[in-house]
Amino acid sequence: MTHNKGGKLIVFSAPSGSGKTTIVKHLLKQDALNLEFSVSATSRAARGEEEHGKDYYFLSLKDFKQHMKDDDFLEWEEVYRDNFYGTLNSEIERIWAMGKNVIFDIDVVGGLRIKRKFPERTLAVFVKPPSVEELKIRLKKRKTESDEKINMRIAKASVEMATAPRFDHIILNDNLDKALLEAENLVMDHILKPFNTDNLNEEE
Ligand code: 5GP
Repeated sequence: MTHNKGGKLIVFSAPSGSGKTTIVKHLLKQDALNLEFSVSATSRAARGEEEHGKDYYFLSLKDFKQHMKDDDFLEWEEVYRDNFYGTLNSEIERIWAMGKNVIFDIDVVGGLRIKRKFPERTLAVFVKPPSVEELKIRLKKRKTESDEKINMRIAKASVEMATAPRFDHIILNDNLDKALLEAENLVMDHILKPFNTDNLNEEE
């Protein structure tokens, strides 16, 4: 697909439990930012109140793999074993057709991939939890995953933390109000920045 059109891309990546989803939800409420959430596809089961088409497009593993074969993804990752997640090209097209900027809540590898594909129009933000210990406490409190799944997420967190310096900005989430304000300012600055699509060389 061609990307010489459309708005800005805002990526929020972080270890699971660092608070990035809270930040992204807050940003979506700010009308001035003109953001729309990029609904990812995933092969994992829905949990809690999650809705198909709103939180994720919940696909069977078979359907997910078919989209991979058909080259329908802008990026995809096997974030946890047998749990695939990916951004469909059609999702970006849908949001750009609405005249809006796209905000992503995706893992660090996917986030950096989008930054690499669209270096000019992407703002890539890493949300850092105060510590891995704090992350564990937050995940346990959330009570949405089994102990085994929590341990899997914690193990991955250390690896993810090491990628932080490759992002445009790091927000330390030790105080939520401060983190929300910092995120709002960063996104506003990025959206206001002029950008000339003609000078872009974004295609891989
Ligand atoms: P969860 O299962 O907690 O909803 O998400 C697990 C991880 O997958 C999170 O880090 C989340 O940001 C990431 N994720 C969600 N959607 C995508 C996506 O489309 N692509 C990639 N690469 N990661 C995603």
